[in-house]
Amino acid sequence: MQPVKKSSKLDNVCYDIRGPVLALARQMEEEGHRIIKLNIGNLAPFGFEAPEEIVQDMIRNLPESSGYSDSKGVFSARKAIMHYTQEKKIIGVSVDDIFLGNGASEMIVMSMQALLNAGDEVLVPAPDYPLWTAAATLGGGTAIHYHCDEQSGWLPDLTDIRAKITPATRAIVVINPNNPTGALYPVELLRDIVDIARKNDLIVFADEIYDKVLYDGAKHVSIASLADDVLFITFNGLSKNYRSCGFRAGWMVVSGEKRHAQDYIEGLNMLASMRLCSNVPGQYAIQTALGGYQSINDLVAPNGRLTRQRDLAWKLIREIPGVSCVKPKAAMYLFPRLDPKLYPIDDDEQFILQLLEQERVLVVQGSGFNWPMQDHFRLVFLPHEDDLKEAIGRIARFLDNYRKL
Ligand code: PLP
Repeated sequence: MQPVKKSSKLDNVCYDIRGPVLALARQMEEEGHRIIKLNIGNLAPFGFEAPEEIVQDMIRNLPESSGYSDSKGVFSARKAIMHYTQEKKIIGVSVDDIFLGNGASEMIVMSMQALLNAGDEVLVPAPDYPLWTAAATLGGGTAIHYHCDEQSGWLPDLTDIRAKITPATRAIVVINPNNPTGALYPVELLRDIVDIARKNDLIVFADEIYDKVLYDGAKHVSIASLADDVLFITFNGLSKNYRSCGFRAGWMVVSGEKRHAQDYIEGLNMLASMRLCSNVPGQYAIQTALGGYQSINDLVAPNGRLTRQRDLAWKLIREIPGVSCVKPKAAMYLFPRLDPKLYPIDDDEQFILQLLEQERVLVVQGSGFNWPMQDHFRLVFLPHEDDLKEAIGRIARFLDNYRKL
């Protein structure tokens, strides 16, 4: 029999967060090793469970959830999201402009599938949440990475964005708050991006899944609130703000210059219909989540658990010689830099594999986020303080040995 090969569509598609390093970690666990996993922004395993009222609501609605819903999602959830867009001052959103998905992930893939033809380019940040690059590639387009500048707190480099626009550029992806850097963008910068989009007829894809995971009293501005003459697709969901990754409840909202986008919106409708609907119990969690007590605020309060863990992880990681790190303003990740003079790394995946083998700590290499250099890695600061101390202590020991090689 001929070997069964994967489609060539997948040739350049890459998603390293759950890639080969994770396979080794699984194998090591099967052999009985305890691994400290700092690789995935999955909250529940670290004791950040979904709020009880959301769980109770899902249980109550379960008997009503066994049928398919409307392809775009149940009305109550979409209405609650519409109110949320009003709170965020996103202009002119109706229930019809809202699509529910199995997580924001499904919507990200769908938004790219519906848009792109061969040769089309999408501007994606570097570093990025790699699903964006993967989805643009799978969608038949090309992700063109624009630089985010570590020196300026990982803000997008507008000059680089302008330089990378070509006649083939269709859209720009803005991940704010950012994974993996924890950056939160100032409104002036968002305005500049909107100007660039307006002048070059680009769609803005705004991934705002961490818009409530904000530290030090910071406020988030939705880029779609800044104009009505640019087409915006804004992505969000319950996974992070409501610690409900497993419920797979996400959405996208079409706003702004919709009149000229009717054909694209028809494409989105068609793809939403083809997968019938998203997971219905998850949809029923949305109204309660958005309308209920926002317990995330307790976690990011000055002495809240997430703030304490961020502060501790950020302090400890920078105590390691040759390691620097921008302090995250949002989300749940550190993206530290390893000084190449102290840590000359040829292949950061191998580096991360060695860390895993020697110290049983799992992180993700910077290149997994389409970062072009071999000098960063990402860790989540979700574990309790004692586990963070243990994990970062092991990273420090590994780096100490690495320096002496
Ligand atoms: N966007 C960003 C920036 C993320 O970090 C993640 C998950 O980590 C997602 C989207 C996907 O979220 P969901 O669980 O809603 O699919």
